[in-house]
Amino acid sequence: MSSSLKGKRALIFGVASDDSIAWAIAQELAAHGATCVMGYQKRFLSRVLQLFKDKPWIEGYLECDVATEESVAGFFQQAAQKHPGNFDMMVHAIGFAPATALQDEVVRTTEADWNTALTVSSYSLVRLTRHTMPVMNAGGAILSLTYLGADRFVPGYRVMSAAKAALQELNRELAYTCGREKQVRVNTISAGPIRTLAGSGVPGFSTILDWMKHASPLARNVNQVDVAKSAYFLLSDLASGVTGQLLYVDAGYSIMGVPPDLDKLLGQAAAGTPPAPPTTPAAPTPASSPASAGPRAQPLIFGQKK
Ligand code: NAP
Repeated sequence: MSSSLKGKRALIFGVASDDSIAWAIAQELAAHGATCVMGYQKRFLSRVLQLFKDKPWIEGYLECDVATEESVAGFFQQAAQKHPGNFDMMVHAIGFAPATALQDEVVRTTEADWNTALTVSSYSLVRLTRHTMPVMNAGGAILSLTYLGADRFVPGYRVMSAAKAALQELNRELAYTCGREKQVRVNTISAGPIRTLAGSGVPGFSTILDWMKHASPLARNVNQVDVAKSAYFLLSDLASGVTGQLLYVDAGYSIMGVPPDLDKLLGQAAAGTPPAPPTTPAAPTPASSPASAGPRAQPLIFGQKK
């Protein structure tokens, strides 16, 4: 068993900028000797070309929109021609929901926005895995990225919560199928909030970052490198017996049952001060709420837009 990735090849989907988690993972795999073929979305072509320039460990990059079967099939056809040979790893670091779905309560999500979010963020793992398996070496590994909003209610994460919950279930389904078929392992990392293009699209993201730093056991946020190191573990032989698992890389935030300094927060609530992490402004509360109501959330109004 070796932790070196020398001679191993990875397919990486989800690099949009140098802040992307996928970019950190690709660099970590390369640092251990792997080479990568990248899938990119056309709209950020100039940005990713700049990023991919002069990186000898990048074998090539091909356009891939996971929303359509034609685009993914085209990616794999071109990869077979331009970068032939089998792969050992596949990274799915893709998430997307239309802005209209993120700006409103889930109860008002349109069917079209729901379908887009779940196709791009969840079904795409099935699609990419189906196309990857024929060119995956036995003993290879697949990795996706998820978020705590799949397990618990996170205000603002909205339709993405359902999309990530579906992804986490697919992680188990695919682990069984790919394991039986080819000894391929499939795992997912639940990353803490990190400022990226996708992350910044979540309403209230800065407050979530502040709160996590305040409340997590490590009293800090995680970054792309934290996630990339765990990704390397799961994608390498170091995790040879690990499949179908969800690994939290979140500075421990997910273990917390109640916030630290709960007594202080309750004291603030009793005094009518909305609880908030110390470094951030409090979330807006309806002016009409009685001060004695304690911690207050935005009410969900059915049938009528607030
Ligand atoms: P990011 O840099 O914006 O990466 C998201 C990627 O998804 C982008 O490369 C984006 O490409 C791609 N994508 C969206 N629609 C696509 C499509 N139709 N076809 C192909 N690619 C598409 O953000 P990130 O934070 O690194 O996100 C990576 C993964 O980590 C996502 O699954 C995300 O949900 C997950 N995650 C993020 C956080 C966080 O706080 N940042 C926390 C937990 C989990 P375009 O931008 O070109 O569309």
